[in-house]
Amino acid sequence: TEYVYRFGGGVSEGGQDKNLLGGKGANLDGMAGIGLPVPPGFTISTAMCTRYYEEGERFPDELRPQVTLGLHHIETVTGKKFGNPADPLLVSVRSGARVSMPGMMDTVLNLGLNDATVEGLAAVSNDARFAWDSYRRFVQMYADVVLGLDHGSFEEALDVAKEDRGYTLDTELEADDLRALVAEYKSLVEKLWGKPFPQDVHDQLWGAVGAVFGSWQSERAKVYRRINSIPGDWGTAVNVQAMVFGNMGETSATGVAFTRNPSTGERAYYGEFLINAQGEDVVAGIRTPQYLTKSAREAARAKPASMEEALPETYTELARVFDLLETHYRDMQDIEFTVQQGKLWMLQTRSGKRTAKAALKIAVDMAEEGLITRDEAVARVDPSALDQLLHPTLDPAAIRDVIVTGLPASPGAASGAAVFDSATAENRAALGEPVILIRTETSPEDISGMHAAKGILTARGGMTSHAAVVARGMGRPCVSGAGGLSIDAKARTAKAGGRTINEGDLITIDGSSGEVMAGHVATVQPELAGDFATLMVWADGVRRMRVRANAETPEDARVAREFGAEGIGLCRTEHMFFDAARISAVREMILAENEAGRRVALAKLLPEQRKDFAELFEVMAGLPVTIRLLDPPLHEFLPHEDAEFETVAAAAGVPIETLKRRAAELHEFNPMLGHRGCRLGVTFPEIYEMQARAIFEAALMLDVAPVPEIMIPLVATKRELELMKAVVDKAAEAVFAEAGRRIEYLVGTMIELPRAALRAGEIAEAAQFFSFGTNDLTQTTLGVSRDDAARFLGAYVDQGIYARDPFVSIDVEGVGELVQLAADRGRATRPDIKLGICGEHGGDPSSIAFCEQVGLDYVSASPYRVPIARLAAAQSAL
Ligand code: ADP
Ligand code: MG
Ligand code: MG
Repeated sequence: TEYVYRFGGGVSEGGQDKNLLGGKGANLDGMAGIGLPVPPGFTISTAMCTRYYEEGERFPDELRPQVTLGLHHIETVTGKKFGNPADPLLVSVRSGARVSMPGMMDTVLNLGLNDATVEGLAAVSNDARFAWDSYRRFVQMYADVVLGLDHGSFEEALDVAKEDRGYTLDTELEADDLRALVAEYKSLVEKLWGKPFPQDVHDQLWGAVGAVFGSWQSERAKVYRRINSIPGDWGTAVNVQAMVFGNMGETSATGVAFTRNPSTGERAYYGEFLINAQGEDVVAGIRTPQYLTKSAREAARAKPASMEEALPETYTELARVFDLLETHYRDMQDIEFTVQQGKLWMLQTRSGKRTAKAALKIAVDMAEEGLITRDEAVARVDPSALDQLLHPTLDPAAIRDVIVTGLPASPGAASGAAVFDSATAENRAALGEPVILIRTETSPEDISGMHAAKGILTARGGMTSHAAVVARGMGRPCVSGAGGLSIDAKARTAKAGGRTINEGDLITIDGSSGEVMAGHVATVQPELAGDFATLMVWADGVRRMRVRANAETPEDARVAREFGAEGIGLCRTEHMFFDAARISAVREMILAENEAGRRVALAKLLPEQRKDFAELFEVMAGLPVTIRLLDPPLHEFLPHEDAEFETVAAAAGVPIETLKRRAAELHEFNPMLGHRGCRLGVTFPEIYEMQARAIFEAALMLDVAPVPEIMIPLVATKRELELMKAVVDKAAEAVFAEAGRRIEYLVGTMIELPRAALRAGEIAEAAQFFSFGTNDLTQTTLGVSRDDAARFLGAYVDQGIYARDPFVSIDVEGVGELVQLAADRGRATRPDIKLGICGEHGGDPSSIAFCEQVGLDYVSASPYRVPIARLAAAQSAL
């Protein structure tokens, strides 16, 4: 079997296959294929990672000759030999999974140095300092990444070396200092590891390859995979590549860049670089990086020359490469490059992570530039990410008490309690408290804490620091590099400008301006014009399913329409009953001894209900409105606290004993499965009669009458629906006779009990529409109460019993099968039956894709999720 694929020097063997080569390897192969300057190398495929674990973390024999051939390729192209003391080849060993996992895996640079080759490198480069510095970095990295030794001891040794000589910067260390430091490092390795530092370059290589495979199962990689739903059996590839050096003087540099602004989406090269630096110096935030373009430097009023100014020819070359890459990959690219003595080398490219705002702008711009089609633009934007845009930003008029300002690393505003470590962030967030995680800089170990936090604030690091990249990916607001902040993580305080933030203090960060403010700052609703509107129009053009909203108040209905809802899929009438002005009439009805008494109370509710519906119909202006008749058990409307009984009894004009007796009578052991839904209508038909009357009277008040869709909840049998439909029809006839005018209306049912799904064929004889109430259908199918599931559902998801929370994303296999079956049986009886979904799932992209498969007519989601549903419905139709 072929496990090794070569690239560079005119070769690209891997066919850009991400599954095989991992993302990094596939793109190195791709860049080499289009003739870009890529240091030669080879990729050991992900299949080998899987095999390595299958064989008990051993390399199969057939791998060795293939790696030898790979090395030979690098040697041929570079003209250097691995392990040759006269002119040594150095390589990097880099991980790369199918999807990028930033900072999750480990990389070793400068591999191939030992006591002999370091002298050769010094001689060939004519730079002993460079050679010894490279060796020093290599020993330190190898000890950390491959041998797993505590890096603290090495940093300490470095600090001591500088202190002894009175230096402050690493760069002040001279060749002899570094030579001495290497000796010290090597003795540290021997002390901590028990064996001398490996001098055999092949041992070094195999050790590093094993470490990359090993890092696939590291804790932080596992956490990242869990958060991002990446399967554990994909494995990582290993890339072995000739080193190029950004640390060979003033015409050498290393940098990272985006072909467009990843924060705003603006079409401008965007990036940071450092002169005379190697590898991850830029991202690690050790030195403050310089801007790529002159205009960005000027905008930031920064002094150090931009790359455009300092290395103009290389910059021009880089700009040309950016354009080639965008044309080739047809997407915004995130790039790593190194300049060795004026010569540009490309080390990585991938589709860049971006904010939702940038994703929208880039998709729309690229479609307009003709780089991608409109359908592709629609497919490119993650519907869930729209959430970031649909949520509030800081009110420009609000007073901001700014404590410190950093870089606007990931947009959006967030308020919460200040916390200084990830564990506290997780603990407090688990109790429902919003928190802002404050760190000097973040590392991959912080990933769970960052996920738990509402926002992230760091004192160090640029716009491409770990914190910034990860926060943008997660959609968390982030302010990075707030240099004025001095953090004492032990004391759990941060100081800036004479002020102190203690753990638990409420602060607000604005990831769009970089401001950090004391207290909670008011927010405003987002702007929905521009690129958002454009993309939505394109999405609406391809979508088949309609999108409605779950809304009952006129305000919610208005928001829903602004977000593009095409009707109301669920108006829950009980919400109208809780209104303070009406609850007493509701209670009077519940407390009435007989039907006559109930009718007196219901007559008081009728005009109120009519008003509710009239307002709703007006806002919806002729769009369909599905109204669900009363659903919850009646005791929900009675007081729960002893203290309330007295006032309620007085208000209702009944003795407190009567109230208590009635409450006791209505008490249920399992209200979810109790006297609710159409069971109320069967026992107290006058309630549904009043509601139906209110609906028809309201509809008749409008010039253009809507077509009300009256929905009967919790139906299990055809007979129930027939009885309730008769109540509704009778009310309709009465109202129409009084008005001397008829309107059209539909009567249908929720499908939210397994029996209803199974008997959908006959239920459809009485129902003009079905709306899948997947919240209750999930509860009743799984036998899991949503309100009690929190205690065990986490363990269920962790252990793979359910792939995801079935209340968030529909359980396609179980609940989904019932939906499919009910849809099929319903359509067999009544081919034009209207089918929709009104559970929480109606706003969940993967559930929406399922609804498209079943061929539902519409999904209904909460107002803020309507745009997400529109985009998800469009994508599922593509
Ligand atoms: P990550 O996946 O964490 O970004 P990489 O494999 O990209 O890890 O390596 C990190 C950094 O090391 C790169 O950004 C690059 O600057 C440097 N690097 C990797 N390989 C080489 C190489 N062959 N020559 C020079 N620098 C390299
Ligand atoms: Mg890394
Ligand atoms: Mg990288």
